Amino acid sequence: MTPPQRKQDAVLDAEAREKIHLDILKRTGAYHANDHILLPAGHHTGEFIEKNLVITEPSFTEGLGAVIAKHFAQWPIDVVLSTGPGALILSHCVARAHPSRPLLAYAIKRVSGGKRRVTLPAEFHKLIGLGTKVLLLEDLVSTGTTLKLLIELVEHRGGQVVGIGALWRRTKKAEVAGKDVFSLVTRDFPTYPPDACPLCKKSVPLNEEFVKRREARKPSSSQEKGEN
Ligand SMILES: [Zn+2]
Repeated sequence: MTPPQRKQDAVLDAEAREKIHLDILKRTGAYHANDHILLPAGHHTGEFIEKNLVITEPSFTEGLGAVIAKHFAQWPIDVVLSTGPGALILSHCVARAHPSRPLLAYAIKRVSGGKRRVTLPAEFHKLIGLGTKVLLLEDLVSTGTTLKLLIELVEHRGGQVVGIGALWRRTKKAEVAGKDVFSLVTRDFPTYPPDACPLCKKSVPLNEEFVKRREARKPSSSQEKGEN
């Protein structure tokens, strides 16, 4: 018998795993494909991830969290730090499944004057200090800016970022600021300005549901901004 081609098998395994994760996201209604979607910035796309819907099926969230925890199981971790409340439930599932039984904390993301800012709430300061081993958890990695800021924050406090777990990575590089990113799905989907959109050219009806839904949410988010 010929031995299996290990490298090829590993690639196939990764592809198969990724397909399973994508199917799970589809089941929760978070991942939309084969559509023609209007994005809030006015661009069009054929697929879309509504990351908030990922957590609506708790057993799926637990399963996905366990996959990330397993990937980082060989490293001792003191704290799983969510990039924000958005990734907190997945972060909880990762922390629950990791053999080190790490603690859990979350940062707060803000944009002020066009600049992104991450803050560690004061009550979590005692959790991250000199030598603390931290696993960062993000839902959707696009530019990696939030993660870079969070790495700076942890290192400034004397902690060490062991790695980054993510639900979805849109970037080509599997690292941010020299830290490995392990994501359940790695996929970038192209977005087009309306005048260059191939779906418009094919006269596929435009789905404006996501933008409308977002507009309906505006009053409450404006209110929250005003309080800061
Ligand atoms: Zn279009």
